[in-house]
Amino acid sequence: KFSASGAETCFHDRHIEPQIYAGLNGSNWSLQDYVSRGGYQALRKILGKDGGEGLTQDQVIATVKESGLRGRGGAGFPTGLKWSFMPRQFPGQKYLVCNSDEGEPGTCKDRDILQFNPHIVIEGMAIAAYAMGISVGYNYIHGEIFASYDRFEAALEEARAAGFLGDSIMGSNFNFQLHAAHGFGAYICGEETALLESLEGKKGQPRFKPPFPASFGLYGKPTTINNTETFAAVPWIIRNGGQAYLECGKPNNGGTKIYSVSGDVERPGNYEVPMGTPFAKLLELAGGVRAGRQLKAVIPGGSSSPVLPASIIMECTMDYDSIAKAGSMLGSGAVIVMDDSRCMVKALQRLSYFYMHESCGQCTPCREGTGWLSRMVDRIEGGQGRPSDMDLLDNVAENIQGRTICALGDAAAMPVRAMIKHFRHEFEYHVANKTCMVPAYV
Ligand code: SF4
Repeated sequence: KFSASGAETCFHDRHIEPQIYAGLNGSNWSLQDYVSRGGYQALRKILGKDGGEGLTQDQVIATVKESGLRGRGGAGFPTGLKWSFMPRQFPGQKYLVCNSDEGEPGTCKDRDILQFNPHIVIEGMAIAAYAMGISVGYNYIHGEIFASYDRFEAALEEARAAGFLGDSIMGSNFNFQLHAAHGFGAYICGEETALLESLEGKKGQPRFKPPFPASFGLYGKPTTINNTETFAAVPWIIRNGGQAYLECGKPNNGGTKIYSVSGDVERPGNYEVPMGTPFAKLLELAGGVRAGRQLKAVIPGGSSSPVLPASIIMECTMDYDSIAKAGSMLGSGAVIVMDDSRCMVKALQRLSYFYMHESCGQCTPCREGTGWLSRMVDRIEGGQGRPSDMDLLDNVAENIQGRTICALGDAAAMPVRAMIKHFRHEFEYHVANKTCMVPAYV
């Protein structure tokens, strides 16, 4: 659900404009609309088509480093630093890839960006390609998202026709061919090396790392992969400067971030707010907890991030450092709000089933362990739990964590351990009474 109006309300306090949703009303996505909002000015600027001298590759990367932009896909890795890993003098083909394989439960921001502001991603990718000397890029879009894929394809056509993509962009010697690729809906293809395998036409399974994609990526060539929202942040940074972006957020957490707020709130949707916005403020923007209910817990960064009880999350600000200090992760910024009608055993049952279903099956701890976790939580939820199950759940999760090829194993284990840590009493109640301790769902 597109919620630019929510972003405007929030920015009123701090006099900071939304950067990705600015000027949007949900339907003005076209090239003409984008240009009227200042679109492609950043590309003009770096190519020296705005009356200035243009920016060198080093200057573009330095600006992105200065901005403090961190990867918005979940890992939060510094974007400028990642760009500097690309071996620019590599003599063969290099690739740029946008990871739009948004499949994390709770996350729905990238599909909105692609549908409502596709040109901002195209411009951001073109700037990144220029900075790293890359001439071919792909945007890998989640297979279950059709409207966003179609919209992005339409925007690509517009950009090519207007000379913002292709050969000799705006009369310069910069060439960049950008293509959209539609996935098949597997969650694991959001893992960057599984995505590359899928893009090559193979089964989407993660690769061992190292080597990392910067040296051995798509078709074995140097490749840089960033998330959709990360690329969408770049044009604003180039137009306004790295320092200005940094100041929109807080130190080490530059700029704005889109949070997908779902669950037991009055106005679920995507909200773009400055990094460091108090959680309480974000909750207020989303209309607060459903009428008549109390906040019980929040999963702050998509289903992979450990749940936090209300008493902890209400003290947090929404940025990488604050959420990490509280014992969770900002992840992709999917904020799943649960009120006091929610059963945490039921919630974990749903999450555990998801990870069991999405495991690619390559490594034993993940393939077998996610099944064990899911079946044990099923057992507790079904009234067949044993008093030792909570310790066993924690033990199995501990033995998955850090012992797998990719982070899906950790993603399956961490929510389990956090649920047992913070809501053990609910699991014990289920085991002892063979029923749930919270009131019936409303
Ligand atoms: Fe596949 Fe799971 Fe291993 Fe990742 S951790 S490679 S999803 S089996």
